[in-house]
Amino acid sequence: MSDRVRVGDVEIITLLDLDAPPREPAQFYPDVPPESWDKYKEYLDENGKFRTNFCGFVVVTPNENILVDTGYGPGPHAAFDNAKGAYIDNLKKVGLTPDDINTVINTHLHGDHIGWNINDEDGTAKPRFPNARYIIPQKDWDYFTGPDAAPERAAAVQKHVAPLTSTGRLEIVDGEYRVTPEIVTLPSPGHTPGHQCAAITSKGEKGIIVGDLFHNPVQVEQPDWNVGADIDKEKARESRMSLMNRFADEGFKVAAPHIVFNQNIGVVIKGEGKKYWQAL
Ligand SMILES: [Zn+2]
Repeated sequence: MSDRVRVGDVEIITLLDLDAPPREPAQFYPDVPPESWDKYKEYLDENGKFRTNFCGFVVVTPNENILVDTGYGPGPHAAFDNAKGAYIDNLKKVGLTPDDINTVINTHLHGDHIGWNINDEDGTAKPRFPNARYIIPQKDWDYFTGPDAAPERAAAVQKHVAPLTSTGRLEIVDGEYRVTPEIVTLPSPGHTPGHQCAAITSKGEKGIIVGDLFHNPVQVEQPDWNVGADIDKEKARESRMSLMNRFADEGFKVAAPHIVFNQNIGVVIKGEGKKYWQAL
């Protein structure tokens, strides 16, 4: 199991930001009865708790360094014992600095995917990645700056995205949007209205960074299980079901930011009458 994978000429490398404390599965999947987990204990820890990490990815192509999601941010995060995010430290460990980043893609505008977009440590908000363009989904921008967004979600977007509007570096996109010759955004609505995956094709190989299409390998087997944070639960299920089939049928290498670090890059296998996750 690895923190990285090669897709043709492209490499996807996981950047761990935060390791969250274990929680009761029902906190994450409020609609799933506790006994439904009995068949899936392998996806919980030894105490029957649900584990998640907060990660982003750097995608290294022959011509660009691209971040897909920027984690929860520097913190300290009160909800996680004042833990601090390690995203930039881990970027440096792979030999890159913020100046080296050409493009940032946010799969969606929840706070745990946009946390390092902005540097406001000296009191002035500016792009954390000064040479990058930032690509965000139009429908998320509209939703989280509109009347229906939960106040804390709207506040996160004001803090971590809105300062980009005056920089000329923000690209607000809809539909499939060509980012580089290898990378295209793929709409996958439900978790949020504009949720987008980052799909990669290189030398006939396929990879994808899935954002919050799913949060745990259990949802490969049970794509109809929603997390509490899925805004449109039915659309989220539809996006998961159709994409899980594509991942299996077309041999995608799949990178998921909330699966536990080092188990979060894998493939979807079809067999024994089901689909399941196999970490690479
Ligand atoms: Zn998330």
